[in-house]
Amino acid sequence: MIDQEKIKEAVKLLLEGIGEEPEREGLKDTPDRVARMYGEIFAGMEADVSVPLAKVFSVESSEMVLERDIPFYSMCEHHLMPFYGKAHIAYIPEGKVVGLSKLARTVEIYAARLQIQERMTGQIADALMKHLAPGGVMVVLEAEHMCMTMRGVKKPGSRTVSIAVRGAFEENPMLQEHFFRMLRL
Ligand code: ZN
Repeated sequence: MIDQEKIKEAVKLLLEGIGEEPEREGLKDTPDRVARMYGEIFAGMEADVSVPLAKVFSVESSEMVLERDIPFYSMCEHHLMPFYGKAHIAYIPEGKVVGLSKLARTVEIYAARLQIQERMTGQIADALMKHLAPGGVMVVLEAEHMCMTMRGVKKPGSRTVSIAVRGAFEENPMLQEHFFRMLRL
């Protein structure tokens, strides 16, 4: 459960810590605003992907399904700074598919937590394997990390790409190639 009072106290301390005056005009409502915003940014803490992924449809086809360019916004757990970008998800149905909006919702739920990009990529892939029982899943996340670009560790605009492969995608490099070809379309 998100404890907004704790967040408020922490933000006030943070402001003091950087040498600010939490009571001054521009800052006096900031702890409260941040607490409410965190309720939204971290709403994934209290959401479960088994809800959207329960809404499956039966299909005969076992042609690859690809949903690309799903936007996401997450928070890096090492620096509490945003990282954001796009998710591309492919899977090979074995009797079950899920609505495209449910894939986006799955990404959103995992993004609305403290994350590291690699783990989030794997979580999305594992959730699809579990709930759709497909022949295989491949997930690619590309993201810009503010903890890197704002500090000048890397150039602004540089992206981190992470990949998770499961099932047939793991066993068959040709399928991975097919996925990347489809991404370039
Ligand atoms: Zn970071």
